[in-house]
This record gives sequence, structure tokens and C-alpha cells, in this order.
Amino acid sequence: QELRELLLSRIHDVPDYPKPGVMFKDITPLLADAKAFAALTDALAGLCERHGATKVVGLEARGFILAAPVAVRAGLGFVPVRKAGKLPGATLAQSYELEYGTAEIEMHADALVEGDRVLVIDDVLATGGTAEASLKLIRRAGAEVAGVAVLMELGFLPGRARLEPALDGAPLEAL
Ligand code: IMP
Repeated sequence: QELRELLLSRIHDVPDYPKPGVMFKDITPLLADAKAFAALTDALAGLCERHGATKVVGLEARGFILAAPVAVRAGLGFVPVRKAGKLPGATLAQSYELEYGTAEIEMHADALVEGDRVLVIDDVLATGGTAEASLKLIRRAGAEVAGVAVLMELGFLPGRARLEPALDGAPLEAL
């Protein structure tokens, strides 16, 4: 509860960004606060341990900022899932539906091995499309899903419900 209050106090609501009608959750004040950022990192690293993760996947771009220190703290390797066209090696690609149109994310094809258990980390779960696509990539790579952990879940959107089938019983943790 104390952690929740600390984190919430460092996330700022920005109205009408990136377009009118959207309330953007800005996490940069949290990142700039050493105590809050460390508390968040510790909490996410604790989830790695609790759920038996062997690898940490971060989702571009804010997911990278959170997942990298978590991987170091937990003693695990970090794997980036990026927007299409950004990774230099052979990739697995997964497209997913947006409100209007589609998007595509990629992961290096050899980044995960069979037997890996992966915790996916991102800042905000909105519609759940990005996280859902990342879980498909992880399973296609032959790895297991340890869970999805986000700083914040937007409870007024059906992200959790969309993610449920792809989670296949793995936990979705929202701090
Ligand atoms: P989804 O695929 O709709 O769940 O969108 C999640 C992705 O969009 C995440 O990678 C977030 O970083 C980003 N996102 C969506 N809404 C916000 C927000 O209010 N603040 C920060 N990032 C957001």
C-alpha cells in the first residue's frame, strides 16, 4: 500500500496527450525520483523471483527503462522486444490490432531458448495489444511465460481481459 501510494504520487496525468481526449500517464517524475525508481525496481525484481523468471523482456520504449535495472537486480538477462525494423539480427515478428490499423513488434529469434521462463515488463497496460503480441512471440520462441508485470494498469480499458487467453494462467501483476 505504501509502495502504491509512492508510485502513484510520482505518475502525472497529462490531459489531451498525445491527442485530444487522451489522459496520458507520465512516468518521468517517477524515474527522476531515486527512491521511487529504486522501490519500483526492487518490487519488479521481487516478482521475477516469485514467479521463477529466468529472463526479463522489456517492451519498447518505456518498458526498456524499467526492465533493464530489474534484470540486473534480479541477476537475469534482458531481452528487448522492439518495434519492427529496429533489431539487426534474424527476428520473429508479431503483428497486432490497434484501435485504427495494425502494429508489429519483433524479437531476436535466438534471444530465448527452450526452458526459459520470461517475465514481460512494461510501464502501462492500456488495451493489452502490445503485451499480448509479446507473449505470442515468447511462446513461438519455445519459451515459457512466467508472467507480465506493469507499473500501471488502466482499469477503465479491457486490457486484462484481452491478455487473459495469451497469459494461459500466468499472472498479470500491476503495481
Ligand atoms: P496497449 O498495447 O494498448 O496496452 O498500450 C500499451 C503501450 O502503450 C505501452 O507500451 C505503453 O508504454 C504505451 N502507453 C499507452 N498508454 C500510455 C500512457 O498513458 N502512458 C504511458 N504509456 C502509455
